[in-house]
Amino acid sequence: MEERRARFPVIDRRYCSRCQGCVDSVPEVFFVDDSSGLVSVVDRPDYPPAVDEAIKNCPRDCISWESRGSGDGPKSTGEFTVEEILGIG
Ligand code: SF4
Repeated sequence: MEERRARFPVIDRRYCSRCQGCVDSVPEVFFVDDSSGLVSVVDRPDYPPAVDEAIKNCPRDCISWESRGSGDGPKSTGEFTVEEILGIG
């Protein structure tokens, strides 16, 4: 349990195809952000074991665990820069 508290899932959106497989399998963790249309991670104190399955089943292999340090969290990760969105980054 402690290990789960110390980490959070991150989506590397450069590779996410938005297939929504993770959203369908673990909706309490993964969701589609209405404002951006991008698949995102719910900021929770801990994450269920089903996240490991979502990581294993992601067809683009773009979900991973990251360690939780001070100031870190799902909301601060995986964002595209303007350059990446425009394809010039
Ligand atoms: S399963 Fe992987 S590729 Fe599909 S939406 Fe989730 S993170 Fe993106």
